[in-house]
Amino acid sequence: MMAPLAGDLSLIYGALSTAFGHQHWWPAKTPFETMVGAILTQNISWTNAARAVASLEDAGMLDPHLLAAADAGDIARLIVPSRFYNQKAERIRTFAGVYVGEFRADPAVMAAMETDALRERLLALRGLGKETVDTILLYACRKPVFVVDAYTRRIFSRYGLLPEGASYDRTQRLFADNLAPDVELFNDYHAQIVRLGKTVCKKSPLCDRCPVRVIHGSLRCAGAPE
Ligand code: SF4
Repeated sequence: MMAPLAGDLSLIYGALSTAFGHQHWWPAKTPFETMVGAILTQNISWTNAARAVASLEDAGMLDPHLLAAADAGDIARLIVPSRFYNQKAERIRTFAGVYVGEFRADPAVMAAMETDALRERLLALRGLGKETVDTILLYACRKPVFVVDAYTRRIFSRYGLLPEGASYDRTQRLFADNLAPDVELFNDYHAQIVRLGKTVCKKSPLCDRCPVRVIHGSLRCAGAPE
């Protein structure tokens, strides 16, 4: 495995954004919608999560006060497209209660909390794991926290910058240690990774059409055929 060089990650991002264009994440009208979307998209595609978000909006329920006070069964009926809807309804209701009770339902109040303390507080909520919490921190609170998902692990282990089976924390450190803490960069870098993982670096990778297979002739993916 090659040692990760700070410049490599920047070059990879540059090649991805040139190939795919800016991804303009997160697709939401408000920070609270982003927070709810981050919970709804757990373990499912964004397409289905977006249908659940739209259903909440159509019912006039995309409101933290209403969700905090709602019956979990009523929320569950609105988010059926998101699968695991009973669990997610409880998670959304609990999260909304904390958002209202501790952060006055104000994203600026939440964002003003020190990043590590806020991360710990949200991780303490049942059903909110690191990927969900970091998504909320980056995309709703604009904290410079790199979001890691299965695509990130797959692509960067194939590339040779991570050991196979690297943990969430190990993967996150690769980016935190080698990139400036830049919210805009972290926002679009994660979105580019998802785009690459969905369309090119799939389980069976399409290396012949990969924009990062070789960059400037010297930076090469270790997982691609010669
Ligand atoms: S070259 Fe192939 S293995 Fe490497 S990142 Fe691209 S698609 Fe994935």
